[in-house]
Amino acid sequence: MRRKLSALAALATVVAATAVALVVPTAGPAAAASCPNGYVGLTYDDGPNPSSTTALLNALKAANVKATFFIWGQHAQQYPDLLRAEANAGMWIANHSWTHPHMTQLSQSGMQSEISQTQNVIQSTIGQTPKLFRPPYGETNSTLKSVESSYGLTEIIWSHDSQDWNGASTDSIVNTAAQMTNGSIILMHDGGYQTTINAVPRIVQGLTSRGLCPGMIQPGTGRVVAPDGSSGGTTTTTTTRTTTTTTTRAGGGGTTTTTTANNGGGGGSCTVTPSTQTWNGGYVQNVTVKSSGMTSGWTVTIGVPSGATISNGWSATFSGSSGTVTATNVSYNGNASGGQAFGFQGTGSPSGMTFSCSTR
Ligand code: ZN
Repeated sequence: MRRKLSALAALATVVAATAVALVVPTAGPAAAASCPNGYVGLTYDDGPNPSSTTALLNALKAANVKATFFIWGQHAQQYPDLLRAEANAGMWIANHSWTHPHMTQLSQSGMQSEISQTQNVIQSTIGQTPKLFRPPYGETNSTLKSVESSYGLTEIIWSHDSQDWNGASTDSIVNTAAQMTNGSIILMHDGGYQTTINAVPRIVQGLTSRGLCPGMIQPGTGRVVAPDGSSGGTTTTTTTRTTTTTTTRAGGGGTTTTTTANNGGGGGSCTVTPSTQTWNGGYVQNVTVKSSGMTSGWTVTIGVPSGATISNGWSATFSGSSGTVTATNVSYNGNASGGQAFGFQGTGSPSGMTFSCSTR
């Protein structure tokens, strides 16, 4: 109880210091004391795997935490006992396709087949139907999103990539995890990597020392919440905002312009850095958003020049396809630090396209 009171006192200080912040502490259970700074999602893809699943589960159990396992359907068919062990250990079981293809290169029926076969094997093996889907390689498009929705699946990408699949050392995995903040989701693999298994206790220790806890990715919203599905003792913080500058980028391929907007409320600010590739009749924009301070989300306003359209976007929610379009962060891509990436492609020339960023 003392810890809770001092946490509230600290919140009161924040309110006084920033004046514009509305701080709404939700009634929290015991978790509030140990997780005052919120929850992050630990995720493990591509299993089950006979060379790592058992050791990984043991490491997670020893650390007394739960994680989300994005299951490769064929592997679940091959190793049903390992899938059962994951479910019995209380891990959250999610869909990661049947054959691990580049989903965006498939027809709609191909996408349906990948998703439905995996739903079916998981249902028949552990009696649960997944509610979350992660496309292999994080590659998605509007067709895939509609297929996911038709199966009641929420798409989850990640905010932090451990690079364990790319040979990252245990130290490096732990360092990436140390960058996570409330709501972050880290990509790791049940892929036979000892580095990933060795990182578990150090990741959890690091999170604990920063008042963070591994949590559950909530179906529907894709947010990371307390392991019991409640919002737990986390604090909902809203800052008022005003937005400012806009810069126009010049046409031509591959150039980059940075646009800055300051949050007038003294809470946070954000910058947006577009990177453009063009070809005859079309373009791709990859955009990095960096924000800081008491930022719980961002919106990038895009001025689409006449004659150009946005035909497909990813890792953000888009309001339209031409004229003034806003791209707002989705739950897995809305953290305050570290830089969040989204992108879109379209037709026409992006020359003269404008970007501005605001936070809330
Ligand atoms: Zn994968």
